[in-house]
Amino acid sequence: MQEDEILKNMNKCSRCALCLQNCPIYQIKKDENNTARGLICKLLGYEKKNLTKKEIAKDLKICLNCSKCKENCPSKVNTTMIFAYKNAKFSPSKISQRIFLIVKLLPIKILYFLNIFKRTSKKNLIKSNVLYFKGCVVKAQHKTTYLDKIFSNANFLCCGIPYLIAGDIKNYKKAKKRNIELIKTASKVVFDCASCKKAVSEYEELNEAEKKKLAFFSDFLVDKKLKLKKNSKYVNKTVIFHKPCHMDKSDYKKIEMFLSSIKGISYKKQENSDLCCGFGGSYFVYHPLIALKIVLKKAASIKSAKADLILTACPSCTIGLRFGQIISFNFKKTLELRDFIENELVI
Ligand code: SF4
Ligand code: SF4
Repeated sequence: MQEDEILKNMNKCSRCALCLQNCPIYQIKKDENNTARGLICKLLGYEKKNLTKKEIAKDLKICLNCSKCKENCPSKVNTTMIFAYKNAKFSPSKISQRIFLIVKLLPIKILYFLNIFKRTSKKNLIKSNVLYFKGCVVKAQHKTTYLDKIFSNANFLCCGIPYLIAGDIKNYKKAKKRNIELIKTASKVVFDCASCKKAVSEYEELNEAEKKKLAFFSDFLVDKKLKLKKNSKYVNKTVIFHKPCHMDKSDYKKIEMFLSSIKGISYKKQENSDLCCGFGGSYFVYHPLIALKIVLKKAASIKSAKADLILTACPSCTIGLRFGQIISFNFKKTLELRDFIENELVI
């Protein structure tokens, strides 16, 4: 995002405060400095040379970059990208951060490398220009998923958000450039991770028609009326879905319709399904106390739902939810929606 675009967005803020109530950090800290409205006021103060970088950088770092403020903003201020770019500018990636990012991504890269040697059947692959955006963690976990068999795997690079959050603009731009080239060749691009989809939909170089190509895989499932396998351990069990902060409301609605239509499970709509899981990539490492408070709040909400299975659609949320369940002694299974469909449904 260019500086003039950032400034234009910040000036759109009407100070209405509608972003406050859903901000996970505000709910914990009750400090306006850590809300979208507070951060925008401070950033505009910096533009007018009334504040220094130092006075803002600390507050920017506490932002989870969850996009809840953007989702609830009536003025459509792109808070997500303002905060990500300004954070990268004020706290550019230092050697220590780069090393941390390399260490963080290392297990993913090793697993991905090992996956290359696994045998895979390609006989069901339908060559098409509907491309599957397989995120880094999914690539590391699975050589193939059933989505590889339906769509073409175009080997997209990382969505880039871990680089942007770590202040590494160079690698963010590199990943973005490659992914945009692939999107231009596709008729549709299908995602199974809400955070990857959100990150790609924020590429400002994509025009509206290109952004419309981006779809969540649930779009293809709504009318399928799939059934649970007879021997599934979830027959007649209660299932809830955690809505990742980065998931669009329309994608969430389609997932709810799909889950309600599955024969053999009892899908229960959870009241606070969009409460943040608190994990947010490396957020736990830099702000453990705040993250822990958010995780515990989410874990209590999940426990009160008395579900047998928790589904979600973001690997980072899956880790956060599993961690929350362990520390709240709620040993119910948490699964990625894609894995649940592949292993438990007749497809
Ligand atoms: S909801 Fe949007 S317009 Fe309202 S204060 Fe927050 S950022 Fe500004
Ligand atoms: S991105 Fe999330 S944590 Fe950051 S200000 Fe917005 S709602 Fe709060």
